[in-house]
Parts: sequence; C-alpha cells; structure tokens
Amino acid sequence: KPLLEVRDLTAVIAETKQEILKGVNLVVCEGEVHAIMGKNGSGKSTLSKVLVGHPDYEVTRGSVVFKGENLLDMEPEERSLAGLFMSFQSPVEIPGVNNIDFLNMAYNARRKQLGEPELGPLEFYAYIAPKLDLVNMKIDFLNRNVNEGFSGGERKRNEILQLAVLGADLAILDEIDSGLDVDALRDVAKAVNALLTPKNSVLMITHYRRLLEFIKPTLVHIMEDGRIMKTGDSSLAELLEKKGYAAISAV
Ligand code: ADP
Ligand code: MG
Ligand code: MG
Repeated sequence: KPLLEVRDLTAVIAETKQEILKGVNLVVCEGEVHAIMGKNGSGKSTLSKVLVGHPDYEVTRGSVVFKGENLLDMEPEERSLAGLFMSFQSPVEIPGVNNIDFLNMAYNARRKQLGEPELGPLEFYAYIAPKLDLVNMKIDFLNRNVNEGFSGGERKRNEILQLAVLGADLAILDEIDSGLDVDALRDVAKAVNALLTPKNSVLMITHYRRLLEFIKPTLVHIMEDGRIMKTGDSSLAELLEKKGYAAISAV
C-alpha cells in the first residue's frame, strides 16, 4: 500500500527561483526502506526539505500524496502531525532548554492534536526512560541542553530518540551516518531497525554504502541533478561503491 507518492516534483529556491528539483518520481509503500544516494549537490537534502515543507523552497510542478492526502497543501506542523518525521543534517542547538523538557513539549503537542491528555514530567519520564536503551544513552543525557555540546554521535542518537518518542509513519533520515564511527553507526542503525514495523517506512539519504549494510533497503535510488536517474535493489549501492557514479549513469 503506497504511503508516499511523489510525481514529477519540481521545486525552486524561493528567493532566486533557481530550479533544484527537476521532476522527482518516487513511491514508498508501507513497511519499505528506501535509500537515496547521489553526489554532493544532487538535490537529496532539497528533496527531503521540500517534503517537510521547508520555506526556502517553492514547488512549481508535480504532486505529493502522503497517506492519501495532498501533502503540499499542509503546513509543516500538519505534515509532522500527519506522521512525517525528518532528522536534520545539521540539528540546531537550543540553549537553556534541556532535552527532556524539549521532548516532553514536542510529544505533548502531538498528543494534544490527537485529543489525548498531555503527559506530566513524571509520566513522560516513565515513557521515555526505556527508550534510552534503544539508542544506548544514559539517563543524564536527558538533562543536557538540546544539542548543546553534543558530539556528532550524540546528535544522531538524539534524533533517533526523537523519532522513537514521537513515532512516524515515514521517517526521512538525512545523512544520519555522517561523522559516525562504526560503533555509533551500528547503534543508530539498530535503533532504526527496532523502530521499523510492517506499517511504517524509512527514507534514508546517504553518501555511503556502509549504512546500507546495517539497514537493509528495499530499494536504492540514485539522484543526479535534481532527478532520480536510477532505481534498483541494494546491489546498486555495491555497484556504485565499486564503479562510481559515472559507471551507473552509463548502465
Ligand atoms: P545534496 O543534499 O544532494 O548534497 P542539496 O539538496 O543540499 O544537495 O543541494 C542541491 C543543490 O542546490 C546544491 O548545488 C546547493 O548548493 C543548491 N541549493 C540547495 N538549497 C539552496 C539554497 N537554499 N540556496 C542556494 N542554493 C541551494
Ligand atoms: Mg550535501
Ligand atoms: Mg544533503
């Protein structure tokens, strides 16, 4: 069953009208894991930002249907409430706000929208504590300010913790592997795998095949100059690593 259907999606930078996405086609079904690979500057992050409704971009053509609804009609908050989650390539620091309060706030906002009662600090603590094991973090991690002084690995783990807390039908993970050593990568991948169900899906963006050894993709897409120019199974990622992008273009 299709969860996300992207048809001929074309988008420009709002300020300059420069076209970055030049007709992207992509269908992600429930329970699938898709990987998007591609050279730096091919438009991978732009695609994920356009999907979550980032104000820097304007859609000029095409459609995006998420869970049967027109995603492009929704505000970014509505997209998130509809079950779309995105991790950011460079997450922001929020000085003076500790991690657990931030997560509690975000979680309560979601519950409020769903008409469910908010969780107080103690209830939320009980909810989140077991999830820390998933990302291999200690309790004191929750009392630190959001992303302040976090190492690269801690930031990534925190993003996955956010995903575990909020839940999502489709999680877009933009370079969750960047700057991670193998141990941290394995932890992050394990957590993502643990969050996968037959119902929800992951769209992961990565430069490296290494991540795909830990999180098995249903399909791999290669992006080039604002389009998906090739789709295949995980062997495509192997070919890419062995032969490079030029060889793939020629296939
Ligand atoms: P990737 O994630 O594949 O490395 P991006 O989507 O970040 O690529 O960028 C694609 C291209 O669009 C790059 O050339 C980048 O410089 C340009 N670009 C994207 N967003 C902006 C922006 N807000 N302002 C100027 N250029 C942008
Ligand atoms: Mg890049
Ligand atoms: Mg990018």
